[in-house]
Amino acid sequence: MENVYDVIIIGSGPAGLTAAIYTQRANLKTLIVGGRKWGGQLQLTTLVENFPGFPEGIQGPDLMMNMRKQAEHHGATILDVDFVSGDYSSTPIKVKTDDDKEYQGKAVIIATGADTKWLGVPGEQEKIGRGVSSCAPCDGAFFRNKNVIVAGGGDSAMEEALVMTKYATEVTLIHRGPQFRASEIMQKRVRENPKIKIVMNTEIKEVLGEFKVEGVKLQTAVRGSGLAVWKDNKDNNFSPEEIGGQKLTANGQELNWQLPIDGIFVAIGHIPNSAVFEGIEKDEKGFIKVFEHTKTNIPHVYVAGDVHDNEYKQGITAAGFGCMAALEVEKYLMDQ
Ligand code: NDP
Repeated sequence: MENVYDVIIIGSGPAGLTAAIYTQRANLKTLIVGGRKWGGQLQLTTLVENFPGFPEGIQGPDLMMNMRKQAEHHGATILDVDFVSGDYSSTPIKVKTDDDKEYQGKAVIIATGADTKWLGVPGEQEKIGRGVSSCAPCDGAFFRNKNVIVAGGGDSAMEEALVMTKYATEVTLIHRGPQFRASEIMQKRVRENPKIKIVMNTEIKEVLGEFKVEGVKLQTAVRGSGLAVWKDNKDNNFSPEEIGGQKLTANGQELNWQLPIDGIFVAIGHIPNSAVFEGIEKDEKGFIKVFEHTKTNIPHVYVAGDVHDNEYKQGITAAGFGCMAALEVEKYLMDQ
């Protein structure tokens, strides 16, 4: 039957396209349901300097186009349509797309990735790539000798802040709550780093600047001992002026102020694109659960990349997971 494939890959980021290169080269008839916005998060970045093989770096969209061409060169079929639903109860698995078509696959690889969780405040979205970033290892070098803030209180935020100390003059870590969620060791490293200032109990209300980031509007909730900037593990009160900010309004409960900065790194977590996969087990944050290498709870359904990986979240690790899933599928189909 024309519409029966050996493997259907859902998603066309580095995980999905790498999986396709491997499955097609293993002579498995491969269909990629790539999504109407194909290519994943690398389509939204500029220069990628940490993907091996490109000594001077490569633009994110160019890297994705190269991967797509490589998958097509080996014979994979890529559809720029969205996945709607799958019936995984028996093989071949039936996959429906948003153009009312149905395809069948002996195995499926889910590689739909994750989206950065953004703050959702005015001024943020239009400045992505103009001072707003979600990846310090990718974009840090553009902020040499500049002042930046990092938003978040988990391990990602700690890591982003530490990475940024290699480039920026000053890094201010801004967290909405009274305590961090990050591991003790990461918190310790951050507190001991003289380049990092920490502002707790503070929400980012707006990203300021006409064409690029020039500052942020902040609101600090006054709790317990008051406002706190920690330095060297000490809990100090502060005035916005002390850290280069400007007071706007203040009352007993909150202080509104603004801070001039050149860049903001948002590190408040990721949202996996997994909601459409009914019957596939997920963790409490929606990341698809992995049982042994790249297997999901359903024998003929595999997973690769950021839709299951809340830890590394890199293009190169997603590509690696894609390779692993493809090799697992090849083994599974040979055993059938
Ligand atoms: P987490 O979910 O651990 O932390 C997210 C942080 O962002 C929390 O502090 C949360 O605040 C804050 N936050 C969430 N939504 C908002 C919002 N709308 N506005 C402001 N702040 C917000 O995500 P991470 O990406 O940090 O970490 C994910 C996983 O990856 C964790 O398991 C972590 O340990 C791991 N990891 C490990 C690393 C390492 O060991 N080197 C490096 C990076 C990640 P609140 O606390 O108030 O909810």
